Amino acid sequence: MLKEYFRKIKSFLLKDVNDEQETKELAILLRFLCILYILYYFISSIFLAFINHFSLSVIVLLFIGLIFIAFVNTYTDLTKKAMRIFHVTLYLSTILLTLISGWATNFQWNMLIPIMIIFFDINASMRNKMRFAQINIISFIALAVLSHLTDHAYTPGTLFSFFFQTFQTISYSCFILVISYFFCTKFNQAENKLRKINDKLRIMASLDTLTQLPNRRNMNEHLQTLVYDFNHSGKPFCIAIADVDFFKHINDNYGHDAGDYILTSLADMFKATMRGRGCAARWGGEEFLFTFEGMSGKQAYIILESLRMQIEKKKFLFKDHSIQITMTFGLEEYSQIIGAEATIAKADTKLYQGKSSGRNQVVF
Ligand code: GH3
Ligand code: MG
Ligand code: MG
Repeated sequence: MLKEYFRKIKSFLLKDVNDEQETKELAILLRFLCILYILYYFISSIFLAFINHFSLSVIVLLFIGLIFIAFVNTYTDLTKKAMRIFHVTLYLSTILLTLISGWATNFQWNMLIPIMIIFFDINASMRNKMRFAQINIISFIALAVLSHLTDHAYTPGTLFSFFFQTFQTISYSCFILVISYFFCTKFNQAENKLRKINDKLRIMASLDTLTQLPNRRNMNEHLQTLVYDFNHSGKPFCIAIADVDFFKHINDNYGHDAGDYILTSLADMFKATMRGRGCAARWGGEEFLFTFEGMSGKQAYIILESLRMQIEKKKFLFKDHSIQITMTFGLEEYSQIIGAEATIAKADTKLYQGKSSGRNQVVF
């Protein structure tokens, strides 16, 4: 029952804005602050009545009315108007209460609260925010001078003033806490969103769109880590380059879509074969680069030979066609003396040796 009641209040306070121009978070922040300020003015009004400022006490009740209007406006897509009413109420009440009841009552700090709120508004420009802050601070100093020049009835130092100042301190702490909380959640949410988008973009930028294998740039980065591991822990690795034999014929005979289908099917085979053994990437059109990690050339050769036979036997079923292909591989062990680039070049030379000596083979 109580839970249901809280849920209703929560959904009422967190209600979204309908207008896309409006900022939901700003509207919600204003709602919370309006509620806090209604309470604050109400208690202040009682305090003022205690120190015989009856007329001020009634005026403060009128401020509650203004804050309530601001609160209602956050539900009618008029957040900007609500914010203006809220700020004006804060200024009026601060000036009036400080000048009449004196600096010692601590009402003046309300003047600085709008600075925090205006910086929360993403639609306001930084120039306007800074100008707003300047005006606020100048008004605050002017108010300090004026309030010390005018007489006021309130005398600090009594037990009453102790309670009153404690109340003010708790109130400002609450206002600052609420504003900071909203700021923090808003920026955390934005940051999380950005991080997710960034991760997605990084993955998209590192994968080949057709085969979903790592692309050439990604493989080059991976090779750098393999070289680093080799230099620091002596972990060996091999590099192989593979090229589909007579791929042009596939495109010419069965169409480009068939060629694409074969490339994606091959990629799936490579992913399965290389799992836990290393990495396969799309190096160029119908060329792939493999890394066999923590392995000797002989071990990599056995895996490639079995992959080559698997490809040779496979029937790629595309539309009404059953297509068979072969691939040629050039394999080379990484050598620290010549580096990764030259190792790739050597693997490439072996691939072309394989092409010129009948294709469908692994050259090591
Ligand atoms: P070889 O055995 O000498 O490698 O013969 P080949 O026909 O495979 O040789 P070549 O490198 O001349 O031809 C490669 C062809 O691959 C040319 C190009 O149109 C095709 N190709 C490259 N990328 C793609 C792709 O993403 N999709 C499709 N369908 N074809 C592609
Ligand atoms: Mg080819
Ligand atoms: Mg080629």
